[in-house]
Parts: sequence; C-alpha cells; structure tokens
Amino acid sequence: PPERVEVSLSHARYDVMVGAGLVARAGALLTPVLPQKRVVVVTDETVAALHLPTLLASLAETGIDAESIIVPPGEGSKSLACFGMVTDRLLALGIERRTAVIALGGGVIGDLAGFAAASVMRGLPFVQIPTTLLAQVDSSVGGKTGINTSAGKNLLGAFHQPIAVVADTDMLATLPIRELRAGYAEILKAGLIADPDLFEWCEANGAAVLAGDPAIQADAVRRACRFKAGVVGDDEREEKPDNGRALLNLGHTFAHALEAEMRFDGRLLHGEAVGIGLLLAFRLSVRLGLCPAADADRVEAHLRRLGMKTTIDDCGCALSASALAAHMQRDKKMRDGRISFVLVHRIGQAFTSRDIASSAVIELLQSQG
Ligand code: NAD
Ligand code: ZN
Repeated sequence: PPERVEVSLSHARYDVMVGAGLVARAGALLTPVLPQKRVVVVTDETVAALHLPTLLASLAETGIDAESIIVPPGEGSKSLACFGMVTDRLLALGIERRTAVIALGGGVIGDLAGFAAASVMRGLPFVQIPTTLLAQVDSSVGGKTGINTSAGKNLLGAFHQPIAVVADTDMLATLPIRELRAGYAEILKAGLIADPDLFEWCEANGAAVLAGDPAIQADAVRRACRFKAGVVGDDEREEKPDNGRALLNLGHTFAHALEAEMRFDGRLLHGEAVGIGLLLAFRLSVRLGLCPAADADRVEAHLRRLGMKTTIDDCGCALSASALAAHMQRDKKMRDGRISFVLVHRIGQAFTSRDIASSAVIELLQSQG
C-alpha cells in the first residue's frame, strides 16, 4: 500500500498517497473515495501523451467510466478562455454532481481543473494526480485553485479541497531536469520556513532527488506534504496575518516580481524564481540585521551545488532594481500600503514583517548587479 500523509481540515480530510506505481493502480486506490463510478480527467497534451493511457487503463480495469478533456500545456491554459472550454465540456458531457474531476498534470492543470470542479454545479468532487515535482510537493495540497486574468496571476479562483491526492514518483521520470529543480525549490522553501531538519535532509539528499532516485523522491514528497498539511490544517483560508499560510510566501514576493518582469514568457520557471527569491529573502534579512550571514551563505552554497539559479543575473535578462521594487509594491500581499514580507531569523525560522522600508529592498536589488 502507498504511504499516506493525512490532511485534516475543519470541514474535510483527505490523504496524499505517495509512492511509485500509483497511477497504474489509481482505479483501486480511488474506488474507496469516489462517490460514483464515473470521472472526467482533465490533463494537458504533454502529460496526455506520456501518462493518460496508464491512468485510463487502470480506471477501466476497476470499472470506472472515464472521459478526458485535454488542453494545451503551459501557463497560458490558466485563462478564462480555457476555463470556459473546460466547464462547457464538463456540462456537455452531462455529468452529475457526484461525477469527480481528476486533474492529471502539473500545477497549471491542478489549478485550472480544480477551479472548474469548484465552479461547475457549485462544486464537483475533485482528485489531484500531480505529475510535476512542484505539484506533488506544493500545489496539489491545500485547496487553492484558480486562473489568471489580464490584471494578474491567480486573481480568479476558489478554495476547493480535493478528496484525494495521488503523488506517483513514476510520473517524475519523464519530467525535464529544469522542472525537477523548479519543484525542488518549493521543498527547500518548506525547510527554510520552519523545518531545519528538512533543510538538513535536503543538504544530504537533494542531489538524489534531482538524479531521479524514486525512494528519495517519495521521501521528499512526503516530508514536504507533511509540512504543507500542517500549515494548511492550521490556517486553511490564509486568514492568519502573521503565521500560517502567509509564511508559505517566503521568497515569493521577489519571485513574483521577477516572473512579472520576465512577462511569464517561459524563460524563468516559477520554481526557478522561487530559488532566487529564497536567497534574496535571506540576504534581505541579513541586511536588516535579523539573520546571521552564515545562514544565507549556507542556502546559497546548497542552491549552487544543485545547479540552481541564485541571482537576478541568472535570469538571463537585464532587470532593473527599481522596476522590480515597483512590482513588489503592487503585489497582492500588500496590506495597508506596506509590503508584507516573509523574512527569516535563521534557517527554519521564518516570520512575516510589514515594516520593511522599500529602500532596503531597492538597495539589496541594486547590490545584486
Ligand atoms: P505546469 O503544470 O505548467 O507543468 C510544467 C510543464 O511540465 C508543462 O509543460 C507540463 O506539460 C509538463 N509536464 C507535467 N508533468 C509532466 C511529466 N510527468 N513529464 C513531462 N512533462 C510534464 O507547471 P507546474 O510547475 O507544475 O505548476 C505551476 C503552476 O502551479 C503555476 O500556475 C502556479 O501558479 C501554480 N501553483 C499553484 C499552487 C496552489 O497552491 N494552488 C501552488 C504553487 C503553484
Ligand atoms: Zn511557489
């Protein structure tokens, strides 16, 4: 049987099943939680070519009737147009309120299919089968779903918790190394926020995660999901201003600014921006006298050893400090006109601060080149 990480919320509980070969057994694993022997799988073209046949075969074996909706790969599918296509297709299939939507794919598919599941008939049962490392360790757990609009990323969405998450390390075998590194940044983030043991585990095992060792990958996914389950269980709807889910934004204020400046054109993956953002959050904390420089150096050494991007220069595009700072000012995490930042006292001890002078941020960014 797969190992399970339990996510326990006030109105819901579900398991994240973690292990190898789970998609090939998805029918049997999901039968106990599916309200009906009928599902609709939402996936993208890339994942459909690689993994959809395995999933459909396993569902068919257990007598589960499955149809599929396939969208183009990439962030562009988190659009109102694509959302409309998916919801129209779901309704055209004549589904019932007990028909489950299964997201088979990365965070894009999870967010898109999850929001469709949240919206159609005011809520269909939803299953996540994350196929990227990022989705397995982060986006598939916690119930945030949504799409982008011309006003910005993830501005249209809903909380809709899955009834089960199936994280199969076999999926990761086909994932490009760049995507693997991007997902790894979110594992690292978990350690840096509140789990120094996880960071040490990363120092010892990060290379094996990226090299594709399935047992080590499963361990990484379990550790990261256990961390996220704890945070989400404590603050399901991001209502706590200073701890809880807000801490998951460590490195993300910088990351979002970098991504926005790069216009989401694919040259910089979200996880790559997060890796750089994590280090910038440590460097900013050092500058403000809140964190020892040795901790920031240790984070940087780890990122470098694994071949991750560490500086704004690594983005391969000249980004001005003032333009980045301006993006941060517009970040939706702003409260009362001040940038709300997640900073660190040390590795494994993050906290939020709303009193960061933008001059400190600009000086840091300028010092970066
Ligand atoms: P993604 O879904 O675009 O996947 C990355 C690429 O990998 C895509 O081209 C996809 O087709 C391909 N791919 C997926 N699985 C594969 C596999 N097994 N083998 C080969 N190729 C595969 O991107 P992502 O990094 O998984 O997710 C990013 C998205 O997640 C962003 O939109 C972000 O906003 C969202 N996100 C959501 C949450 C949340 O809590 N809901 C958290 C973090 C990120
Ligand atoms: Zn992230």
